[in-house]
Amino acid sequence: MERSGPRLAIVVPCYNEEAALPVTATRLTALLAELVHTGAIASDSALYFVDDGSSDRTWDVIEGLAATDPHCHGIKLSRNHGHQHALLSGVLTARGDAVISIDADLQDDVAAIKEMIDAYAAGAEIVYGVRRERHADSWFKRVTAEGYYRFAHLMGVRLVFNHADYRLLSRRAIDALGAYRESNLFLRGLIPQLGFNTATVLYDRHERIAGKSKYPVAKMVGLALDGITSFSAAPLRLITVLGVLVAFVSFGTAVWALWVGWFNPDAVPGWASTLIPLLFLGGIQLLCTGIIGQYLAKVYLETKARPRFIIEKQL
Ligand code: UDP
Ligand code: MG
Repeated sequence: MERSGPRLAIVVPCYNEEAALPVTATRLTALLAELVHTGAIASDSALYFVDDGSSDRTWDVIEGLAATDPHCHGIKLSRNHGHQHALLSGVLTARGDAVISIDADLQDDVAAIKEMIDAYAAGAEIVYGVRRERHADSWFKRVTAEGYYRFAHLMGVRLVFNHADYRLLSRRAIDALGAYRESNLFLRGLIPQLGFNTATVLYDRHERIAGKSKYPVAKMVGLALDGITSFSAAPLRLITVLGVLVAFVSFGTAVWALWVGWFNPDAVPGWASTLIPLLFLGGIQLLCTGIIGQYLAKVYLETKARPRFIIEKQL
């Protein structure tokens, strides 16, 4: 068959997604067939499902898909490596001129895929899927996520507002991404650093089609912290500023305590003026040590240069 559009690969990280996967696969296969039919993409385009060490029947489902449909491929990681690493393993393994990554729960509207391909055809090397609104997310998730984007921006981390990991990468962008060796992965921060010609596509975020979120609050906080500490040393600078401020406040408190002691003979020998600065300083010190510890841990993990993912099997 004559090659028309680019050879597309769609990468889907899956962690315990046995409930959602059959629906997702059906929907994505149909979309792929349609895009091939209209000539938007080449006929050897494919889907890559990455099993991120699931403990349910996810891999069986993927095996079933790969056995019946030559457009479906499976990558099985040796254990749970986490969403970011699963995604990277898929993106670096998949063959194609362009790779789109999308979550297995189809919260991200698949209709945007067509627009991403159009943007790619128009010359974009990276196309960001950006959420139009967040009605489908809980109030908590919406507020924390949007607050986080603002905070990260303040800390000097360049992120695309309301963009998660739904994006298209060209072969050139993937090769550039592969050269980044860090194992503390935060792709949302890393990819804007690649540069290139970029575009954005707006889409609506839906409810999860099946199953439960695989991102409990603890994991979300971990990812959020990685996002800041992997890209910005601003918190370290902040500590210095904080230290100077605290020094001034402590000095002021000391002057005040002396003043009370000298000019107010009735004053109860002040436990407050002793205790408050003590607790305050203790708290600040712990906070600062903690922040420095975060960076130290990063350096520690990076110096090990461990593999970022281990592929057990490929279909
Ligand atoms: N995921 C993964 N490994 C993990 C956690 C999640 O590959 O350790 C996948 C999951 O299967 C889904 C995507 O990452 O395809 C996003 O997870 P989820 O939809 O649960 O996150 P949420 O949308 O709730 O933030
Ligand atoms: Mg989801």
